[in-house]
Amino acid sequence: MSFEGMDFETRAVHVGSEPDPATGAVIAPIYQTSTFAQEAVGEHKGYEYARTGNPTRANLEACLASLEGVGPEGPGGGVCFASGMAATATVLQTLGPGDHLVLSADVYGGTYRVAARLFEGWGLRLDVVDMTSLDQLKQAVRSETRLVWVETPTNPLLGIVDIMGSADAAHAAGALCAVDNTFATPFLQRPLELGADLVVHSSTKYLGGHSDVVGGALVTTVPELYERARFLQNAVGAVPGPMDCWLTLRGVKTLALRMRAHCHNAMRVAAFLAGRPEVAEVRYPGLAGDPGHELAARQMAAFGGMVAFRPAGGVQAAKRLVAATEVFTLAESLGGVESLIELPGEMTHASVAGTAAEVPADLIRLSVGVEHPDDLVADLARALDRA
Ligand SMILES: *Cc1c(COP(=O)(O)O)cnc(C)c1O
Repeated sequence: MSFEGMDFETRAVHVGSEPDPATGAVIAPIYQTSTFAQEAVGEHKGYEYARTGNPTRANLEACLASLEGVGPEGPGGGVCFASGMAATATVLQTLGPGDHLVLSADVYGGTYRVAARLFEGWGLRLDVVDMTSLDQLKQAVRSETRLVWVETPTNPLLGIVDIMGSADAAHAAGALCAVDNTFATPFLQRPLELGADLVVHSSTKYLGGHSDVVGGALVTTVPELYERARFLQNAVGAVPGPMDCWLTLRGVKTLALRMRAHCHNAMRVAAFLAGRPEVAEVRYPGLAGDPGHELAARQMAAFGGMVAFRPAGGVQAAKRLVAATEVFTLAESLGGVESLIELPGEMTHASVAGTAAEVPADLIRLSVGVEHPDDLVADLARALDRA
């Protein structure tokens, strides 16, 4: 059965999850094996060794590719990794000494860290620019530029970068455009349809959705890049295990339902915070006055589940606040069904302190979960009163 012409929700449930032909099991099995029997030398059913390929991983790769708009016939496809950082590092491994990378300011801290502290040492040239201004991006690209790396919404400030404009600027310089689509997910934003060449995910976050598995993926429409990523996946070996792939595939089935709830709840929380005198600034692209609102309304289906804000009382007030919530758990990461609160300057983004990618010390980031929004708002109200 081909689900390719069908809608997002249907593909999320069915692509890569067809009943097992051997037994009829409705849920495709977890192929917990490292190797595969051959009938004769080189005669097998498409699998030889599990670093090279595993059916559970292939199921997840098919599903994620489909959700980003790439069908089984390509061009390109999906490639899964042991973490989001492994997917990111694989993309950077396709570059060589002397190649120039333009990274958006306010990217995931680990992305900046691996680019600056590993790949720069191997001769990669790196520039970090605020891509919420397309002019800054256009000035940064040059003839050696091979890749423009966009993350939108940005992390943790939730700025919005114009994907179509960034892809045009990259292509004008003969470079590719990558988008880290972790925050938005393909349910809200499909960069490949807006002209980007590849999408990277930390599937640890919304795709898995239950804070119980670490994983990563890339999906590309460029056949040569897809072949290179497949080569690197096997040659380097940062592959996810079958159980992790199965958990992620199970999570993805409810992605649409969860994202609708995340967006609804985040809007409630952002509007609540914007009305409180103890809050100096709220960043949420869904708020009409937010600097990214109009662009987000054009390139996203809705505004996502992440909210950032700065309390009026500065960094000490921020530290008291993140320790005072009870429904929101103080923890790194995001995208699970449970609400999380954190202080990026000292937690997720500590590795970029003192660099161009540093974030305001008093900024609080919320990953708004799918609990009842009344309970989330009441929890924040109690914490604001106490802090
Ligand atoms: C978490 C995250 C990553 C890194 O993914 P891991 O699965 O933790 O390796 C990359 N980009 C973004 C936007 C993230 O939130």
